[in-house]
Amino acid sequence: MAREPSLAGNTHGGSRVDIEVPLTVPPLLGVEGAQKGAGFVAVRAAILTVAIAALAAAGGLPHSARAAERTNAAGLPAKADAPKGDLFPVATDARLGGDDSQTRFVVDLSRKVDMAAFTLADPYRVVIDLPQVTFQLPASAGEKGRGLVKAFRFGLVMQGGSRIVIDTKGPVRIEKSFTLDAGDGQPARLVLDLAASDRETFLRNMALDSRTRITPAHRSDSGPAGAPPARTAAGDPRPLIVIDPGHGGIDNGTKAASGEMEKSIVLDFALMLRDKLEQSGKYRVAMTRTDDTFVPLEERVRFARTRQAALFMSIHADAVPKNEGEAQGASIYTLSETASDAEAARLAEDENRADVIAGVDLTSEPNDVADILIDLAQRETKGFSAQFARTLEGEMKKVARMHKHPMKSAGFKVLKAPDVPSVLVELGYMSTKDDLKQLMSGPWRSHTADSIVQAVDTFFAPRIAGTTAGAN
Ligand code: ZN
Repeated sequence: MAREPSLAGNTHGGSRVDIEVPLTVPPLLGVEGAQKGAGFVAVRAAILTVAIAALAAAGGLPHSARAAERTNAAGLPAKADAPKGDLFPVATDARLGGDDSQTRFVVDLSRKVDMAAFTLADPYRVVIDLPQVTFQLPASAGEKGRGLVKAFRFGLVMQGGSRIVIDTKGPVRIEKSFTLDAGDGQPARLVLDLAASDRETFLRNMALDSRTRITPAHRSDSGPAGAPPARTAAGDPRPLIVIDPGHGGIDNGTKAASGEMEKSIVLDFALMLRDKLEQSGKYRVAMTRTDDTFVPLEERVRFARTRQAALFMSIHADAVPKNEGEAQGASIYTLSETASDAEAARLAEDENRADVIAGVDLTSEPNDVADILIDLAQRETKGFSAQFARTLEGEMKKVARMHKHPMKSAGFKVLKAPDVPSVLVELGYMSTKDDLKQLMSGPWRSHTADSIVQAVDTFFAPRIAGTTAGAN
């Protein structure tokens, strides 16, 4: 018994029957028989011929399967006249089986794809990253849960990358995640097995996951254990770090009373940081500017996104208006819709003014991704940004004076890449004499840049062996 349930409900008045289906499918092609713990569950399922017909309609299957095509529009776009050989793999069905202790999620595909699955907390989710996939699932797919799964959603998350996000009822562990080639009358499939877990285990696994996750478009089939998060360039597997020296050109940023300009100080610092990161040999580094030119905020974000950066660091130096007293020390900012405090709000407003200062028309980003998916990716990226910010604070405070509240958040435009973990570092206050002195000091810059390199190393630290969840 290797038949799977079809829960898609993709019949149009066609006959539906309740059948007994095994929870598990063979992990390898051609292996018949129930696997360990095969719990049989009764599910409401479309009969097999209907499922096959859906595939025939969607992907083009053997002629024998086409007989039922007409009776099964299955909510799928008519493909009769579609050219053969879809550009992207097509997901034709998705279903759930199992119970509150173990739940299986299966997606039928027109061909096998790479996948990377990982978990996220608050709310609990499982994310499956795929190369770009065309979803031709029934309209209601994902609305109803089963077992550990509340619901799921799917879509394009970036050019070349699709994603399925599964909302779970509680903390879960990814027991297995794999894809199967088509065979034995079955389509290619993606299979994810989830098991109930506890919060502590879940969070531990997630922390490990986050350092080893892989983007779909550039995922190699089996990255070496201990590899940093891929987001690789062809031929160079090292993660790309984008350093963004604030301001530039017509936009000077903050100016010290003694005349020094933020744009020059942060550029000098960023160049030093770049050199140190490159010297480590572990990273590729790109800068949004390397000289005194103006770069629109949106362009900085786009720069990181199009290169699929693994990390984006914007470097700035702050100043407090004369009548607002003194402040000192470095701060680390992450993106949030609501500012963590008034100072953060003020700063974000200042920094976001860069484009206005330069007279740049704020055109919106090309809408290549649905808003809802941007929002989704942003929530995920936020977790990684926060994780890096904490690491960075831990390292920087060893060598640099920090602000009394060094971790803040606000709506910085430059941090809005939905798919690149991003932080903005304010190295110190140019309006404060001692801070300015440090900002101009070679040794201080060097120590501080070293501490940032250390934080980057920690963030990309190799995964701990034997604790991986996911693909086997
Ligand atoms: Zn600035």
